[in-house]
Amino acid sequence: MGSHGEQFKIIIVGGGIAGLATAIALRAPDRHITVLERSRMLHEVGALISLQPNASKIVTKLGLDPFLARATPLVDRGFRIFDKEGNVVREVPFDTAQFGADRVLYHRQDLHAALRDAAVSDSGVLPGAPVEIRTAAGVVDCKPEVGIVVLADGTQLQADLVVGADGIKSVVRNSVLGDQAAQFSPIPTGLSAYRVLLPLSSIKNVPGLPPSVTVTDPAITSMIMGGDRRVIMGPGRGGELYGFVALVPDTKAADEDKKGEDTTWVRPGSKAELKAAYAGFAPWLLDLFEAASDDDIGLWQLRDLDPLPRWTRGRVILIGDAAHAMLPTQGQGASQSIEDAEALAAFLDGVSSKPTTQVVEDVLQKVWDARFTRVSLIQAYSRQQAKPATEAGSNKVTLDPGQFLKYNCDYDGAVDWLRRQEKQ
Ligand SMILES: Cc1cc2nc3c(=O)[nH]c(=O)nc-3n(C[C@H](O)[C@H](O)[C@H](O)COP(=O)(O)OP(=O)(O)OC[C@H]3O[C@@H](n4cnc5c(N)ncnc54)[C@H](O)[C@@H]3O)c2cc1C
Repeated sequence: MGSHGEQFKIIIVGGGIAGLATAIALRAPDRHITVLERSRMLHEVGALISLQPNASKIVTKLGLDPFLARATPLVDRGFRIFDKEGNVVREVPFDTAQFGADRVLYHRQDLHAALRDAAVSDSGVLPGAPVEIRTAAGVVDCKPEVGIVVLADGTQLQADLVVGADGIKSVVRNSVLGDQAAQFSPIPTGLSAYRVLLPLSSIKNVPGLPPSVTVTDPAITSMIMGGDRRVIMGPGRGGELYGFVALVPDTKAADEDKKGEDTTWVRPGSKAELKAAYAGFAPWLLDLFEAASDDDIGLWQLRDLDPLPRWTRGRVILIGDAAHAMLPTQGQGASQSIEDAEALAAFLDGVSSKPTTQVVEDVLQKVWDARFTRVSLIQAYSRQQAKPATEAGSNKVTLDPGQFLKYNCDYDGAVDWLRRQEKQ
């Protein structure tokens, strides 16, 4: 598969969930893997994140369960949907047998720390050498044909394979897309999300709060919906915390963007504005918001990408949000990154010593063939799941959060997926 004897050098740009999962999945003898992360990796966002069954299955196969067990996972048994008045209108159960694995909730910091521990672990649980993680190593340019990345201080690093896992504002994407890059920049979706994380104990006594909302064994995700407003909420960190994401139409951030100002797309949130956005909803929801302080509330402008014309060029491939950022309405963003990691590992299986350009290009083509249609559809489904939950003038919830679950979660790795597509 390659010229024998020399190590296979892999550089991964970005140490988020996509980059770390890929570093772990690619660990193998005779490979040297470096993750270049721009930040100092000290400030992972304080929010809950779910791994869907399609990703839970993969992390188990990668041997990550011992690491993730330390990240206080919480198994989630389904969605309970309330209308804006607080009546239960639908249940969407998740049972392990249905998709062969669980939907699991983590605190993002815990998940990130567990992946980092696994990547650098030398305990012998995972194959290959520990991954080298270099923080404060921002990449400013990339030369895909020769596998070179350039750091902010001008240092050039070369590898046989470069994985662009540098998130929605990817620098590597510009090098892969070249002249087309400007057409595929992140798109404001018209939505923003308030994100709040509180101690679970601080909300338990909210008057009228349905007891199912705070149950942790087993946990369920509650959603309360009306018009273009929707709150998705549930417990986390083994039941210590409670998180909610409240969707609202995007106003201010979009206006700033029109003026061409470079925003971070994240701003401090205001409790008064959050409560005003949900006026008319069940009183227990507003009391739940009341338990937060302004300091606990962040407001994120939600952007996604249109499907890109390519993810690969030369020795480079884009993965995760750099390749296919999507709305969080199905909670599939991180899970799709983990599917990318598995796909790269599957098609690189057996490539241990230094591969030729042709071998790398052939593998990256297979990853694209296996992943592009599936991920693009999941991006589109995430947009569909962002539509208003009720018809105009009615409180009847018509949105079904279970609509695409079978497609999303019934997944058993990239090789199996390609085989299934060929049979169709
Ligand atoms: C409100 C909200 C809620 C969400 N909820 C969920 C959920 O419940 N479940 C789910 O699966 N997904 C969720 N997502 C999506 C999910 O967070 C992402 O899809 C997932 O984390 C994959 O991210 P990534 O690693 O590709 O990118 P990122 O998390 O953005 O990581 C990119 C990394 O690259 C680094 N970097 C950037 N540029 C450079 C550079 N030039 N050089 C070096 N390093 C660089 C960054 O510092 C960062 O560490 C949510 C997203 C949002 C906005």
